[in-house]
Amino acid sequence: MDTLKAIAASPGIAIGKVFLLDAKKIKTVKKKIGSEDVTKEVTRFKEAVRSVEDQLRKLISELPDEIKEHSNIIKSYILMLRDKMVYDKTIELIKSRRINAEWALELAKEEIRALFSTVADSYIRERIEDIGFVVNKIKSILAGTEARLDLSSIEEPVIVVARSLSPADTLHIRKEKVLGFVTELGSRTSHTAILARSLGIPAVVGLEGVTSKCLSGETMIVDGLKGIVVVEPDDDTISTYRLRQEQYLSYRLEVIHNSRLPAETVDGYRIKVMANMELVEEIPIVVQHGAEGVGLFRTEFLYMTSNSLPTEEQLFLAYKEVVEKLNPYPVTIRTLDIGGDKLASDVCLEEEINPALGLRAIRLCLHEKGLFRAQLRAILRASAYGNLRLLFPMVSGKSEIIEVKGFLSSVMDELENEGHPFNRNIKIGLMIEVPTAVLTADILAREADFFSIGTNDLIQYSLAIDRVNDAVSHLYEPLHPGVLRMIKMTVDSAHREGIEVGMCGEMAGEPLYVPLLLGMGLDELSMNALAIPKTKKIVRQSNQEECSRLVSELLGLESAYQVKEKAVQFFKDRYAIDMETTDFLELA
Ligand code: PEP
Ligand code: MG
Repeated sequence: MDTLKAIAASPGIAIGKVFLLDAKKIKTVKKKIGSEDVTKEVTRFKEAVRSVEDQLRKLISELPDEIKEHSNIIKSYILMLRDKMVYDKTIELIKSRRINAEWALELAKEEIRALFSTVADSYIRERIEDIGFVVNKIKSILAGTEARLDLSSIEEPVIVVARSLSPADTLHIRKEKVLGFVTELGSRTSHTAILARSLGIPAVVGLEGVTSKCLSGETMIVDGLKGIVVVEPDDDTISTYRLRQEQYLSYRLEVIHNSRLPAETVDGYRIKVMANMELVEEIPIVVQHGAEGVGLFRTEFLYMTSNSLPTEEQLFLAYKEVVEKLNPYPVTIRTLDIGGDKLASDVCLEEEINPALGLRAIRLCLHEKGLFRAQLRAILRASAYGNLRLLFPMVSGKSEIIEVKGFLSSVMDELENEGHPFNRNIKIGLMIEVPTAVLTADILAREADFFSIGTNDLIQYSLAIDRVNDAVSHLYEPLHPGVLRMIKMTVDSAHREGIEVGMCGEMAGEPLYVPLLLGMGLDELSMNALAIPKTKKIVRQSNQEECSRLVSELLGLESAYQVKEKAVQFFKDRYAIDMETTDFLELA
């Protein structure tokens, strides 16, 4: 028995037999060709590309309804096939180097790999895998072999284990045949992980070396809740996991069944529970988990997924789709928050000694007005199609927001003159994530329609802890009395000025903090969609008055340790603890 741990990519427990995906590489035959064969070789390459295009189009038309939304991924592959760096470059290499198509294609891919490998951002680096997938498809056609994921001969459902699964491979996966999957590559934000979550298939990714640690036909357990994989488990372990699987399934049935119920406490306090999202493909997960809108749509990913800046039209179409599909619920689109730890491929940022304190978010947008204009135009145009709210990140004080609003108003005039429809009364929100924004929240509240507290950054900036530096991560403390006071101060200032206040940092989606946030009087919590049902469940078991008494008590304590002890005790005493919260409390 071998127990391995990696990234929990999609929740659930699977127990079954391994289906090890053939990871053999298609061998690249390398041949020099004569000048008389150049045209023939170019034609062979073009025909292979066309044939891959046909296969991918067929795949789109055959997608089952629940994953139709993901056809965008396949469409992006179709575009990638004709990308200059792949298509034109291969043809140029066949001609200039007089080499066969496979070799030329391989060289083109290596050039792209070398170019991308210097990029620090993991999301962009993952796109190399997508290019690798497209290139392999062409190579398999040139070599006369077939696509690799073929589950047609399987009789009983399996756990697919592979070095990597491209999103297109994942789209071949059908729930009846695949119980779970495990890959060596990938992260929680990779498209494959997102797809696994929307298909409801348990998955663990980023498990280095797993393909050499198991064989097809062996028994495996995949725990997508904790990121654990057990190869050849003993009988006791299987029984333990069978029980865990049953508990989880009944828990899921209950939460999904109840996910549409309002998040209202026993004493009638109503809080809105919304989703954070990044990709258009996440819309079905957001809807399925009972989100009452999107409290934070991070727009950075649209800038990270291609190597050129998205056009206003591309942004507009993406925003419009989200807004239309979620109508009448609100969708809060945050303007670009790159810089710091988030990088975009085509925005040249000067190297900074302290990027987290540097030219990021709203500061960058005010500096790069062209970038900002395109984004605001796209957001405003999308506002004509549903309930859209605008959110500005990293605001530090009044003069900044006055400048932003001045620019916004000029962009509105521009659109009006051009005859574009948009909502002139669009709701304007400010992220409260810089300590001076907290301290001047009363002033800022007069300039905005709502606040959203970004605790990920607020904690980083107030405790002076770099959120991406492991060496100080143990000091990152949401329950620090200083942090609690700042949240309370923000809520009170907002309410005194008559505006609503939400929270969209990770803190909003952690069960232990829900009673505190209810007690502080927040109007809205926005979180990873998967956390919504359990949050609503906790809210429905809460009494807001009791929670506000808890908050008064906690605000009188002197250390994060004392606060945590009291909060955990309160939680244990009041709530019927389900599996996920138990897991959480064990960690606390
Ligand atoms: C935050 O800072 O809490 C937040 C929600 O924004 P991000 O994590 O995108 O910086
Ligand atoms: Mg932030």
